[in-house]
Amino acid sequence: GDKRLRLPPWLKKDQVLPSENRNVARLKKQLKNLKLSTVCQEARCPNLGECWGGSDDSIATATIMLMGDTCTRGCRFCSVKTARAPPPLDPMEPENTAEAVASWGVEYIVMTSVDRDDIPDGGADHLRKTVQLMKLKKPGLLIECLLPDFAGDKLSIEKLATSGLDVYAHNVETVERLTPWVRDPRAKYRQSLDALRYAKEVNPGLITKTSIMLGLGEEEQEIKDCLADLRKNNVDVVTFGQYMQPTKRHLVVKEWVTPEKFDEWAEYAKKLGFLYVASGPLVRSSYKAGEFYLKNVLK
Ligand code: SF4
Ligand code: SF4
Repeated sequence: GDKRLRLPPWLKKDQVLPSENRNVARLKKQLKNLKLSTVCQEARCPNLGECWGGSDDSIATATIMLMGDTCTRGCRFCSVKTARAPPPLDPMEPENTAEAVASWGVEYIVMTSVDRDDIPDGGADHLRKTVQLMKLKKPGLLIECLLPDFAGDKLSIEKLATSGLDVYAHNVETVERLTPWVRDPRAKYRQSLDALRYAKEVNPGLITKTSIMLGLGEEEQEIKDCLADLRKNNVDVVTFGQYMQPTKRHLVVKEWVTPEKFDEWAEYAKKLGFLYVASGPLVRSSYKAGEFYLKNVLK
């Protein structure tokens, strides 16, 4: 039978329609002439209106994906295509991406990528070059990179930590017990914590950030343990969002976590000393990322 849970009222479509404003329309228009694909549009993210819109207390944020659309890993919550050997990297991508981002009106860019275990450095040089070129072409741009674990390779982590990026993000995705079931077997909970800690060790000026999906069957104490682990490894920012099953072949949702519960987790995490916490059913790791930076780092 169909074991899928019904959508709760706070996730129904009419509750989450993106609000459009002038900035969103302007960014969409500019984007048409730029060869840049955004995760915001491709994943039809419900937060697009808020992220791209910006406002007095926020800045326009968007997410782009690099190194192709095919991942060498196959996490059971993720709908990105998988192959053992995806097409080779486009050597012009760093230059072209930087050029396009620099001429686009966003002020905070989140750069993410698939995992490329088929490439010796996991694509670290390629990503580093992209960050450096973006900063060169648009010095005021704030850059957050949502990065792979690089299979624990310290040199690759170092290449990114010293690339000039502002926020080093890597997602633990779930609590320790569920990790082998939720993420690709090559992704390991402790390896992710080590990557976050090491990035900050190499460059203490960085903000480090991670995200946790709720609704996969994790228990309260396990979330608390996970948050304690993150603080022990000097992670600055944590976000919580509801896991949503992308297709029938992916893990089923075990629980719809209520908005009130998300608020409770935000309170709990803030008391542990995180610099910033974003928590809500629709919060994604990049949700209004520019806002937190503006309010908590540049203040
Ligand atoms: Fe884009 Fe992320 Fe905001 Fe969604 S949450 S609109 S993917 S920046
Ligand atoms: Fe998806 Fe990232 Fe896992 Fe690849 S490593 S399958 S992109 S979550």
